[in-house]
Amino acid sequence: MSTDYSRSVRLGGMAAGVEETTLRERMEGALVHLTADGRMPAASETLDVLVADLRRWPVRLSLDPGRGPGRLDAPLIRRLAVRATEIDPDRPLRVGEAQSQAPLHLHVGTAPPPGSTVAGAPDGHGVRLRHAGHPFPRLNAPGTGLGAVLTAAMLAGEAFKVVAGLPEGKFQMTPVVDFCPVLPGERPGTVVTPLPALDQVLLGGGGAIGTGIALVLDLLEATGKLTVVDKEVFEKPNVTSYSIGTLADAAAGLSKVRLIDAHLRRIEVTPFHGTIQASIEAVDAGTLPWPRIVLGGLDSIEARHDLQRLHADLILDGGTGGPVGTTVALHEALPTGPCLRCFFKPNHTGKSPEQRLHELTGLPLSRIARGPEPLTERDLEGLIDQQRELVSQFLGRPVCGLINSAELKGRTDDTFRPSAAFVAQQAACLVVGAWIARSTGLLSGPPRRIEYDTRFGPRPDQMIDHRLPAAECVCQKDAALINLIREARRIHH
Ligand SMILES: [Zn+2]
Repeated sequence: MSTDYSRSVRLGGMAAGVEETTLRERMEGALVHLTADGRMPAASETLDVLVADLRRWPVRLSLDPGRGPGRLDAPLIRRLAVRATEIDPDRPLRVGEAQSQAPLHLHVGTAPPPGSTVAGAPDGHGVRLRHAGHPFPRLNAPGTGLGAVLTAAMLAGEAFKVVAGLPEGKFQMTPVVDFCPVLPGERPGTVVTPLPALDQVLLGGGGAIGTGIALVLDLLEATGKLTVVDKEVFEKPNVTSYSIGTLADAAAGLSKVRLIDAHLRRIEVTPFHGTIQASIEAVDAGTLPWPRIVLGGLDSIEARHDLQRLHADLILDGGTGGPVGTTVALHEALPTGPCLRCFFKPNHTGKSPEQRLHELTGLPLSRIARGPEPLTERDLEGLIDQQRELVSQFLGRPVCGLINSAELKGRTDDTFRPSAAFVAQQAACLVVGAWIARSTGLLSGPPRRIEYDTRFGPRPDQMIDHRLPAAECVCQKDAALINLIREARRIHH
C-alpha cells in the first residue's frame, strides 16, 4: 500500500500556481533537515508533530540527534522514525547529519545551531518563531501540547513556502512571530490558567480539522468527556492531510470517530458514527448527551447549519479555505446570534457565485461578468495548468452556465478539496485556544471571527472582528422557539 500524496500536493500546486506533477517533483527534490534541543519542555511533542507534518509531503527528511546535554535520546528517535514510516514506509526518516550543503534546516528550540533557517519554540500555549539572526527572548512558561502543535504547524508552514516554491508576493517571510491562540494579541506564555475538564462538549466533524483538535487535546493531556460525531470512514488520501491516522488505519477501514476515540487516551469518548442531523435526533431521544459547547471541524455550509441546530451554548467553528486552501478561521457562534447561519448564509458564504467560480477556475471576474459569451481558447490563457484542464471541458459554453453546473459543483466536494495538516492544525489551535479562553472565563467579550492566511501568518491587530447577529436570520426571527428547544433539552439532560 503506497502513500497517496494527492491532497497535500494539490494544495501546494494551487498555492505555487503550478501543476501537481511539477509540484510533486519539486517536493521530491527538497531536503528538510531537523535538529532540536531535547531539554526544552514539549520538544518531543513538537518534533513528533513536525516530523509527521513534513512526512505528509514527498520531501526527503533527515534528523540530527545532536550532541551534548540537548541530544535527542534513542527512544525518541525510534518513535519519530516509526511515526514517519507509519505515514510512508518508502520514505524513512534519515537519522544523522545533513547530507546536502545547504538544506532547509528547521530547529526546535531557542538556541539554533549555525546553518538553521528558522527555529521555533512553544511558549506556554503559544509559539515563538525566529528566522536566522533573530534571537529568542527568555520564554515565559513551559510549552504545552497546544503550543507544541502550533509551533510544529508553523515551522511546517515556513518549510512549505520553500519546498513548494511559492511565488513572490504570494507569501511573506516574517522573521519574528509571537502568537498565542488563547489570547491573540497577548504575549505567548502569559496564560497559565489550569485546563478545564471537557464537560458536555461535542466535536462535530472528524476530518482534517477534527483530527487536529483531537491531536491538540491529547497532547494537552485534556481529561473529561467528549462526544465525537462524523459519518465517514478513514481512507488512504486522509493519511497525508489529517493529523492522526496511519496507512494501517486506512487499510483497516476504521470510522473516523473510532480513530479519534482510539487516539484520545485520557478522554472518555462517545463516538457517534452518523450525520450531525442523526446526532440531533439521538440527543432528543436521550441516547446522546446534549452538548453545551460544540467544537466544529466541518467543511460544508449545510453541516454547519445542522450543527447550529444542536442549540448549544457556544459553538467554536474551525474552518480552512481561501483561494488556495491556506486560510484558517474561527467562528464563535451563539444560539442568540450571531449563529453559524449568520456567519454562513445559505448558498453564499458571503461570497457571490461569481466569486466562487473565479476561485475555482481562475477566470477573471471581468470575464465572468460577460456571462452569455461562450468560453474560447483565449480564455485559457493566463490560467495555471490544472485550471486550464478544468475550464477546457467547458469550451463553447456560456460562462454563466458554469455557475450552477453539476460538473463544477462536484469539484467542491472532499475529493477535490486541497488540504494540508499544517493548515488544519492552525485552525484546530484557534478552536482549542478559544475553548480554553471561553471556558475558563479568560475571555468574555462578544463573539469573534478570526481569520488569517497561513502563507502570511497571524496578525492579531488585523485578523479579529466582532460579529453581530444578522437581523433577518432565523436565530433572531425564531428566538422564542430556540429558547423553548434549549429549555426542553436542558430538562432532559
Ligand atoms: Zn443567526
